[in-house]
Amino acid sequence: MSSLLDLIKSFRLYRMCLLCAFLLLGCDAGNHYPHNIILCIGDGMGVAHITAGKIAAGTLNLEKFPVSGLVTTHSANRLVTESAAASTALATGKKTNNRAVSVLPDSTPLKTLFEHARDVGKSTGVVVTSSVTHATPAAFMTHVDNRRKQAEIAEQIVNSGIDVLIGGGRGYFVPASRQGSRRKDDKNLLAALESRMPLVLSADNLSANSDGQKLAALLAPGGLPAAANRDYTLARLTRLAIQILSKNTNGFVLMVEGSQIDWAAHHKDAPNIISEMLDFDTAIGAALDFAQSEGRTLMVVTADHEAGGLALHDGSIQDRQVSATAFTTGGHTASMVPIFAYGPSSADFSGILDNARVGQILIDRLQKRKTPATGDREARR
Ligand code: MG
Ligand code: ZN
Repeated sequence: MSSLLDLIKSFRLYRMCLLCAFLLLGCDAGNHYPHNIILCIGDGMGVAHITAGKIAAGTLNLEKFPVSGLVTTHSANRLVTESAAASTALATGKKTNNRAVSVLPDSTPLKTLFEHARDVGKSTGVVVTSSVTHATPAAFMTHVDNRRKQAEIAEQIVNSGIDVLIGGGRGYFVPASRQGSRRKDDKNLLAALESRMPLVLSADNLSANSDGQKLAALLAPGGLPAAANRDYTLARLTRLAIQILSKNTNGFVLMVEGSQIDWAAHHKDAPNIISEMLDFDTAIGAALDFAQSEGRTLMVVTADHEAGGLALHDGSIQDRQVSATAFTTGGHTASMVPIFAYGPSSADFSGILDNARVGQILIDRLQKRKTPATGDREARR
């Protein structure tokens, strides 16, 4: 009789251990390798930009992230970086000189997160509100020694193997002879792009093209209209990109950029910083909805650098108003920028990290590798 009781007890114990193991596994999502990665970059987005957005909105989607930290942004040759060098660090895990796009200072190409993703059969996509040839997206898709070479960047994008390409910059894809061209040669890259994937040139035609596994949407000659003047949100573009990319059962890597937070900061324009910030936050919300329901998606939100040296001097929480701001510069600053993470491997993004280490962790997680700790937590060059 007592041995039967023991048996029942040990069976209960066994079941309890099993339950505990399941619970532990479930709670340990922060340490698993991701199936998908969604990296959201707020260009120029410092702590003050986020604060201004929060004052205006009350609550941001950014507040739903369980992990946060700070990122140092200096480039290989300057304390104050710009988008090309900063995006190179995030896209390749290596620092380079200002203006270089995913190449070392000696022009050696650096393998990108997207190239690593394609190696393991994953789809890749970018959704930006700038030209797709602009520095931030360019560093994920191309390799050039200077970000100004946007005509060359467009050519490399066409041949990059990108699956979803949404943003502006149509002018760099049409031949010089045609109106609105920003090229100096007669290459018709729109035709080349269309031979590889469905091509959309107006936001009105977006929904009709969500069935396939690829899409190029070049929705403006240069940058997209500012959020305040646009009748479609970055969230809508992000949802469409995810809808298409998630058809690949091997997974995907998507970069979403709120490109124009930076531009508003250069113009010392607080109202537009807020509207760009909120547009970016809607996209973050859309991506987070997907990540939460999908369960295997690592989401990271950060900035390439701070812009404007922005400070908030007065306003009202009740009235959701920022009434006094100051900018210390019309350019960028070296201030650290925030980082937020959700999902498998998210725990790796807490504390103070260097931007190149952020890129290295993303690449390592894609390859199901841990990133070795470094003495000062900086990625080795
Ligand atoms: Mg940018
Ligand atoms: Zn800038």
